[in-house]
Amino acid sequence: MARIYTDRDASLEPLTRKTIAVIGYGNQGRAQALNLRDSGLGVVVGLRRGGKSWELAKSEGFEVYEVGEAVARADVIMVLVPDMEQPRVWREQIAPNLKEGAVVDFAHGFCVHYGLIKPPDNVDVVMVAPKAPGRAVREEFLAGRGVPALIAVHQDYSGRALQYALAIAKGIGATRAGVIETTFAEETETDLIGEQIVLVGGLMELIKRGFEVLVEMGYQPEVAYFEVLNEAKLIMDLIWRHGIYGMLLGVSDTAKYGGLTVGPRVIDDEVKQKMRAAALRVKSGEFAREWVDEHSKGAPNLRKLLESARSHPLEQVGERVRKLIFGA
Ligand code: NAD
Ligand code: MG
Repeated sequence: MARIYTDRDASLEPLTRKTIAVIGYGNQGRAQALNLRDSGLGVVVGLRRGGKSWELAKSEGFEVYEVGEAVARADVIMVLVPDMEQPRVWREQIAPNLKEGAVVDFAHGFCVHYGLIKPPDNVDVVMVAPKAPGRAVREEFLAGRGVPALIAVHQDYSGRALQYALAIAKGIGATRAGVIETTFAEETETDLIGEQIVLVGGLMELIKRGFEVLVEMGYQPEVAYFEVLNEAKLIMDLIWRHGIYGMLLGVSDTAKYGGLTVGPRVIDDEVKQKMRAAALRVKSGEFAREWVDEHSKGAPNLRKLLESARSHPLEQVGERVRKLIFGA
């Protein structure tokens, strides 16, 4: 059974009288900085001078510094710039300014797990990874709730690294929802595997190919869109709230029988073998090497693929249909 921490298990005490530097003020940075401040903690923000987050963070009442200066002032460093920017920001601005005994926190294990960032021995290295977009981290907090998070200790110099991580989790509201203990390896690998084979990659291809089959057989694209994309959300809501069995109880007997007999023939053992192969590429580090290399060249392949996703017929129909459903 996974170890799950809630509000009772966490105290803000390790962070009181400390200075927390939130590096980056994007999705996670803004949400976490605001939540920590509302929890009564001392937060400064570290950014590039003149970048577009600089004015926003200032206008929301934070002291904003260049990254190096924020790090030098802080006891706790929250690394919330994009993963592919982190190695450079780390090398040039964070590492040279780190104090002995500082706590370094990540929201995703990618750079540490794959060795793109190698923290010195004399700091704590922890992770508090909210399992939700930044917007939800803030909105749930304001509503008196929180989003679940994963928590991990990579390096425990102080002997209190877990207490620091739990305090951060409490400060951003995550212990209100529940915080699961994991490792940098498990968080990173499951995150990448999940987004590739199920969430982003899997769902996208399932929907696109389902749409193509219907349209190629001569059915109207609008009907196909409603069937495989719009309704996918409604089915997912049922699964999310009630589980797969619960979803089955919510659809017709015909859908139950068709789904249970035909589903495994479409998503069959061969597909599962391919999922396993993709997962092994993540685990071996092969995917990370490929992505770091692609990113270092300016992500030409990513841009090409995004363009082709944009021009898929599903998108043209989608634009029309969504106008109908959601207005302009
Ligand atoms: P983001 O792209 O929304 O924000 C980036 C911020 O970093 C911006 O304020 C930008 O100005 C700043 N920045 C970029 N390059 C910089 C540089 N060189 N120097 C200084 N500042 C710089 O990033 P994000 O989506 O919030 O991701 C941050 C971390 O959180 C990542 O590790 C990511 O994996 C993790 N995470 C994100 C989400 C999410 O909601 N998107 C969810 C869970 C975990
Ligand atoms: Mg992910």
